[in-house]
Amino acid sequence: MTELWHDHQNQIKEITIDTPFQVGPVNVYLIFSDALILVDTGPKTAEAREQLKAGLRKYGVSFKDLDYLLLTHHHPDHIGLTAEVAESTKVAGHHRLIPWLDPAHHPDFLKQRIAYLDHFYKRHGMDEASASAIVNQNLKYMTYAEVAPLNVPLHDGDRLDGLPGWHVMETLGHAQTHLSLMRDNDQVMVAGDHLIRHISSNALLEPPHEPGGERPRTLLQYREAMKKCLSASKVYSGHGEPVLEPAALIQKRLYEQDQKAAYLKSLIGQEVMTAVGVTRKMYKGLYDRQPGLTFSETLGHLDLLESRLELSVSEEDIWRYAVPQKD
Ligand SMILES: [Zn+2]
Repeated sequence: MTELWHDHQNQIKEITIDTPFQVGPVNVYLIFSDALILVDTGPKTAEAREQLKAGLRKYGVSFKDLDYLLLTHHHPDHIGLTAEVAESTKVAGHHRLIPWLDPAHHPDFLKQRIAYLDHFYKRHGMDEASASAIVNQNLKYMTYAEVAPLNVPLHDGDRLDGLPGWHVMETLGHAQTHLSLMRDNDQVMVAGDHLIRHISSNALLEPPHEPGGERPRTLLQYREAMKKCLSASKVYSGHGEPVLEPAALIQKRLYEQDQKAAYLKSLIGQEVMTAVGVTRKMYKGLYDRQPGLTFSETLGHLDLLESRLELSVSEEDIWRYAVPQKD
């Protein structure tokens, strides 16, 4: 343990790393406690690797000093350099990260997800070209990650050895593998992409984690997981500046979602529409450029309306949404 490390005892230090993705730079964090924890890694690029190493060096540590690498969720900008860090460090994260981090032992995992989504997209009115563009984009995205098996699978409420006074919070919605850390005494959080100050985090469409299970209604999950964080005093995010007034931001996000859902409902009006039809009407040309994100965003809000019985869906070969008419 170096002098510098002692200086940082009980502190949280941010290292910002560039990504080749539209979201911009990602923040990873060092937590200096009884153990030394790195939260997330950045993507697998040469530039990110150098920036991560330089960031650690600034605090007088290197990969071999880390006791744990804690991953907030499975997206490549957060887990990209896992294999490299894991050579000398235990990897901790949500228990559902297991197949993501050990694809060799879960060869069907990705295949089943792709098959589910392909079928799902088409059932909601998507054409072949857009559906396969999304799959290809996702596969390319995953090449920015080189993974290693999960050593410490975590569940909601768990505590990590060497990190006294903190607990794990399952914060699903943005990803089905998402977790955050919360410090008990002052409710400070390190929260990955759960809450971001300058952009609204997407509750992304994902297949059921277990084949044959029910599709997670990710926006509904996300809203519940945000409400769990209303007591947070400060949130260190995966992107951008820390959130200094988490409760106000959460209320704002919930309100924006309600507004967007109401707008989508008005777009449907008296019509009977597929989710893709609603997405096109909402996003126009952006749908052609980003079918995956725009569809996912729309579907989340349709789920929200459906859960409130403000929308009904007819589940035939092609699923269609309609606003129930009062008589
Ligand atoms: Zn993410």
